[in-house]
Amino acid sequence: MANVRLEDIKRRFNNVTAIEDITFEVPDGEFWVLVGPSGCGKSTILRTIAGLETATSGKLYIGDTLMNDIPARQRDVAMVFQNYALYPHMTVAENIAFGLQMRQVDRKIIRERVETVARSLSLENLLDRKPKQLSGGQQQRVALGRAIARQPQVFLLDEPLSNLDAQLRDDTRAELKQLHAQLGVTTVYVTHDQVEAMTLADKIVVLNRGKIQQIGAPQEVYAHP
Ligand code: ADP
Ligand code: ADP
Repeated sequence: MANVRLEDIKRRFNNVTAIEDITFEVPDGEFWVLVGPSGCGKSTILRTIAGLETATSGKLYIGDTLMNDIPARQRDVAMVFQNYALYPHMTVAENIAFGLQMRQVDRKIIRERVETVARSLSLENLLDRKPKQLSGGQQQRVALGRAIARQPQVFLLDEPLSNLDAQLRDDTRAELKQLHAQLGVTTVYVTHDQVEAMTLADKIVVLNRGKIQQIGAPQEVYAHP
């Protein structure tokens, strides 16, 4: 079980409260989307779950484990950012394998894992290329591949499609949806794109000025009365 539970999380930077009263629970395997205007606290919530940010108060659980004092590298969480941040000198295969090699996973298992991931993301024929020989969409697929190769309990994505042009965004969004259906990994996804939220989310968390304004299914959140 890898549900993600935030209990009354607050994060202050000096005198500024970035987020407060943040309470929600993402059930195991669900895909939740955080939306809201720039500066409303979406990234801070994601970074808190990843362990890249420390909550000023409140509790974060992954499964039954209190995570507050557990460092990022010991969390079974993978995060994908808006800029793909691939290693330029490594091939696609090496990029996908990187997190596994860091964890000293058996070479044979790494090879199998790289093959499986490449197949799910249509990267089989690009494994020997370097990032600069790939399109933006292909690079972002490699970044997704690198994250899922570790088979994390929790998958976090911070505006992963926003650097792609419209057509690629549509394609990659559809791929992401398929990938999630296949993996069933608990996912928290940040975007300000309504179409992404509508098509991907089991539940949407609407944030405003660091607080939760609404939590609901896409058709509730975007209902036009
Ligand atoms: P969003 O992702 O929704 O754009 P953020 O989580 O990045 O919002 O930011 C929420 C608020 O916290 C903003 O007011 C931002 O300026 C502030 N903030 C975020 N990170 C820092 C930081 N490291 N130092 C000071 N203020 C920060
Ligand atoms: P190295 O020589 O350092 O192992 P490679 O580029 O050959 O670097 O591979 C990096 C990782 O990706 C290795 O763990 C390898 O098993 C895996 N890998 C490389 N090419 C493939 C491939 N075509 N199919 C599956 N896994 C691959």
